[in-house]
Amino acid sequence: EAGELGTDMGWEVYAVGGFVRDILLGRPNLDLDLVVEGDGIAFARRFAAKLGGRVKAHSKFKTAVVILDDGQRVDVATARLEYYEYPAALPTVELSSIKMDLYRRDFTVNALALRINPGRYGQLVDFFGAERDIRNKTIRVLHSLSFVEDPTRILRAIRFERRFDFQIGGQTMRLIKNALSLKLFSKLSGTRVMHELQLIMNEEDPLACLLRMQELGIMEAIHPLLSLDKERVQILTELVKVHNWYKLLYLEPPVVPWKLYLLGMTMGIKRDQIDQVTGRLHFTRREERDFFQLRDQIGEALMKLMGWKEGRSRLSRLYKILHPLPVEGILFLMARSRKEYIRRNISQYLARLQYVEIEVNGKDLKNIGIEPGPIYAIILDKLMTAKIDGRAETRHEQLNLAK
Ligand code: ATP
Repeated sequence: EAGELGTDMGWEVYAVGGFVRDILLGRPNLDLDLVVEGDGIAFARRFAAKLGGRVKAHSKFKTAVVILDDGQRVDVATARLEYYEYPAALPTVELSSIKMDLYRRDFTVNALALRINPGRYGQLVDFFGAERDIRNKTIRVLHSLSFVEDPTRILRAIRFERRFDFQIGGQTMRLIKNALSLKLFSKLSGTRVMHELQLIMNEEDPLACLLRMQELGIMEAIHPLLSLDKERVQILTELVKVHNWYKLLYLEPPVVPWKLYLLGMTMGIKRDQIDQVTGRLHFTRREERDFFQLRDQIGEALMKLMGWKEGRSRLSRLYKILHPLPVEGILFLMARSRKEYIRRNISQYLARLQYVEIEVNGKDLKNIGIEPGPIYAIILDKLMTAKIDGRAETRHEQLNLAK
């Protein structure tokens, strides 16, 4: 439909970027990026009207996002046709603007386009040898200043390399090392580093990327305190396992991967030094406060867990240790615990305990003649404890206990 509309409007339309790369790799990708050789915003408006959807346009960048009624998002960018007047008798040449658009991209594998206008539908536009690089499983930049232009591409290179099990090409690797020796990373803003780190932590195997970063000295370059030692590699290995286990079993509550993995990456950093890391990564005050609090909560929970013995300690005690923690904290504790029974009981908490509710409420307490007041919270808490420990499972038992 997009191709037909393009032809109607007199413009060439291409699918580009990760979408095309993933077709060649045979991997699913639902993020469609289009480039229109014409007016991308006008195209997006007509496209949304035709298929049913709304448009968010950024006139400054001549881009738009179409959000179709079924939720599908389509990004639309503009590639201007540029005409170069040559002096004297030479003719005016029309420079292919899709080529310019693709040349600005990070790697050859992401600089592919697919024609979608009727008649040419499915023709691959490959100016830079992307198809060959995909065949040879190589990540390659388009020109030698690429990492100087944008050092975050170093992290992107690693992310794609590890995700697809590719290799960064020889010359590209030399350019990365050169960029690192020029300390280009120290000039990169914390916000941009953090954004790329977050993308890495959203990957299937973030540890593979982090290890590659360590190998190339990028962890150190971001901040010396982030260098991965054996202990951190070990906890990160456990975190990946626990995270995958959790994703397989549960949808709710969702895990924010960067919160989970950053706990592992910063393990062993002392309280009075951790703000150096959050400062480097440009955390907001609030993010910083939440992260410090989470670390403190985990420290406290770890101490308490050491004293918790299966069979001897109450389940309600475990509930009280884990209940204040967000899911990332709970998974971290699971990864940290060497004792099998602790892991098993944390798993019990996630599966069942965290959802336990009692059958009695404030109204019931009033009905049995207890005067409303702060005592209610105490009673309800005691009832919860009793239920978890299997001492008052029915409403009847809970009312009796309350009395
Ligand atoms: P993913 O599968 O991770 O979404 P993607 O290739 O779709 O990968 P995006 O981050 O969504 O990646 O970017 C879309 C496209 O924009 C990329 O394919 C790439 O061509 C281009 N791009 C993104 N970031 C950069 C960058 N820092 N420098 C140059 N080009 C970039």
